[in-house]
Amino acid sequence: MKIILIYGGKSAEHKVSLLSAFSILQAVYYEYYQVQLVQITQAGIWRKGPVLTDIPKDKTILDLTEANSQVITPADIKEENSIVMPILHGPNGEDGTVQGLFEMLDMPYVGCGVLASACGMDKIMTKHILQQVGVPQVPYVSVVKTKWKEQPQEIFEKCEGTLLYPMFVKPANLGSSVGISKAENREELQCAIEEAFGFDRRVLVEQGIEAREIEVAVLGNEEVRTTVPGEIVKTVSFYDYDAKYLNNDVDLQIPADIPEEIQQKAREYAEKAYLTLDGSGLSRCDFFLTSNNELFLNEINTMPGFTPFSMYPLLWQEMGLQYGDLLEELIQLGLMRYKQRK
Ligand code: ATP
Ligand code: MG
Ligand code: MG
Ligand code: MG
Repeated sequence: MKIILIYGGKSAEHKVSLLSAFSILQAVYYEYYQVQLVQITQAGIWRKGPVLTDIPKDKTILDLTEANSQVITPADIKEENSIVMPILHGPNGEDGTVQGLFEMLDMPYVGCGVLASACGMDKIMTKHILQQVGVPQVPYVSVVKTKWKEQPQEIFEKCEGTLLYPMFVKPANLGSSVGISKAENREELQCAIEEAFGFDRRVLVEQGIEAREIEVAVLGNEEVRTTVPGEIVKTVSFYDYDAKYLNNDVDLQIPADIPEEIQQKAREYAEKAYLTLDGSGLSRCDFFLTSNNELFLNEINTMPGFTPFSMYPLLWQEMGLQYGDLLEELIQLGLMRYKQRK
């Protein structure tokens, strides 16, 4: 069977995708699979590269050029006896668009389908939906660009009437903390909103809270398994892009040192969020835990970072499921979901 590994992408998380993709190439069971490389360049061009039958020696293999690849249209990825592994983060990768392509091409693929991807990627939509099923979240205000341009004053009043400073301002559809800023006052709020609108036409303004960050990994289709929670132990107060990928300002504490009942609660909420959004394959649910043990769901990531140092695979390792076996499970879940739809 062939794994069609799609990586890169136009989004701001292009580099993160390369890291995850290279890690996956180290762990594929090449006795059973060949891997077709497909890169989406930063400019959005699709390139079909070599087929790997063994672990590549270095990550330059991922840089597809004129010499080792050809430009294709997305539909050209179609092959019999294959499964797509879209290791893409952010818009056009994690948001249901590319999943829609695989549905149209009638191909099995790893991870969440169109609906869960689209809803999970959109922080505003996630909040609206999960509010209905009683998963606690921090208070928020959503803002649309046209309204902001016309009536900023009204938006300020709405934010300040509903929320206290500091506030966190986020583009609705992104990840890796790109475009997110913390605002301590109205001037900063204005800058933060302008900044976030550089990435999206919808923006979320959230109540900032002082909290620990707890994450739960979810695996499965209709029947799901969750892991014990892990904690992102920060030496910085805001887990921004640099802290995540450049400065190594974080330690992962697995399992998180939190009371048993909070662990259970987090796992329950993670499962509920996942099933409510119709998740399949995998997701990582991120929570805030306050000092008086209040738990809030921050977000669900349908294609979490997937390097051997990333929280998602490390949580499964803690549960006794090694990286390579985890990949294999994800492939089987993708194939199962495909068959069930028939
Ligand atoms: P990811 O890389 O996990 O997908 P993301 O870009 O989707 O991240 P969030 O997880 O929503 O963004 O926010 C990034 C970080 O900003 C959080 O991990 C946390 O450190 C901080 N943060 C976000 N919202 C809040 C909040 N309401 N209060 C306090 N800190 C926050
Ligand atoms: Mg996210
Ligand atoms: Mg994300
Ligand atoms: Mg997050």
